[in-house]
Amino acid sequence: MKKIQMVDLKGQYEGIKEEVNSSISEVLETSAFINGPYVREFQKDLESYLDVKHVIPCANGTDALQICMMGLGLKPGDEVITADFTFAATVEVIGLLNLTPVLVDVEPDSFNIDPKAIEKAITPKTKAIVPVHLFGQCANMDAIMEIADKHNLYVIEDNAQAIGANYTFENGDKKKAGTIGHVASTSFFPSKNLGCYGDGGAIFTNDDDLAHIIRGMVNHGMYKRYYHDVVGVNSRLDSIQAAVLKAKLPNLDAYNTKRKEAASKYNRAFKDQANIVTPQMPKGCGDICVDCDCHVFHQYTLRILNEKRDSLVQHLNDNGVPCGVYYPVPLHLQKAYKDERYNEADFPVTNQLVKEVISLPMHTELDDEQIDFITNLVIDFVNNPS
Ligand SMILES: *Cc1c(COP(=O)(O)O)cnc(C)c1O
Repeated sequence: MKKIQMVDLKGQYEGIKEEVNSSISEVLETSAFINGPYVREFQKDLESYLDVKHVIPCANGTDALQICMMGLGLKPGDEVITADFTFAATVEVIGLLNLTPVLVDVEPDSFNIDPKAIEKAITPKTKAIVPVHLFGQCANMDAIMEIADKHNLYVIEDNAQAIGANYTFENGDKKKAGTIGHVASTSFFPSKNLGCYGDGGAIFTNDDDLAHIIRGMVNHGMYKRYYHDVVGVNSRLDSIQAAVLKAKLPNLDAYNTKRKEAASKYNRAFKDQANIVTPQMPKGCGDICVDCDCHVFHQYTLRILNEKRDSLVQHLNDNGVPCGVYYPVPLHLQKAYKDERYNEADFPVTNQLVKEVISLPMHTELDDEQIDFITNLVIDFVNNPS
């Protein structure tokens, strides 16, 4: 059996080596390292893939989030509501801009922000909601857009983990994750579903004016060379990364399908296990999403119910199977983001999930032998924990 990895970037690279190598050498030959033709070409390709008017590439997903908030003109003191159960980047940029983060609980089945908790947290100072499409599945965007409309709030989608996923609205319409709110951010960190070979990120929006503001902001607030109209940042996607991404984008749907196939195999194996909760698909999709792309499995995350999560992690590691706990601490309890405004009783789900979640190896190169090995180890262990 091939060595099991959490993410197999080398294996994936082997399949696209020629295209990627020739694109990279072309950048080297032309030496247009910043803002070369590949950046523009990748931007156009991604706009048509997502069916969104504007893609603005930038240096990474964290910058992308920060620039979304700057572009919308959020000011110190404005409150921004986001999920308590996510990667810290989301709340970090809120803090950096001196905005006020308002963390709220998530739903136990989707791990995504709970619209009821959002509604409860709204005050006259609330300006924006940041749903994070966690682990590859969209948050409840019907409810979130309705709340935002009602209270006149911006919606910034953190789409770092769900690129390529479709969201199906209650009326049957479909849109790609990251094209539903006012603006969205994504990350091309190597392990993301569309990853480059270094850091990269992008912002998406259908709003022409906002796109114009943001294009200047990523480049020192310049709309005309050496005329600085607003305070900006220096955040660029470099040409080598754009060349890698342009070569990988045509494979994104196939990569996501491979992830879903691996997830289906895991789901089938764990189906009747009392102490294991498998990821739940959105309503309308079966147990195993095949055609609708409602879930692109950035992570395959189980809940282990018999308080054996930590010993399962140890057991898997002892047997050469990597795994991850995303995330072990609710953001409202992280040292950097603790705040006496928060009340423990408002976070029952996050407080529970951090004790139960475990993410298994998930990538495009997993084979049946590896999946069987992993599922057998997990099932034996939860039924006969030592
Ligand atoms: C990865 C990630 C980010 C940050 O992206 P970087 O490119 O690493 O800065 C932000 N939000 C979420 C939910 C992420 O998973």
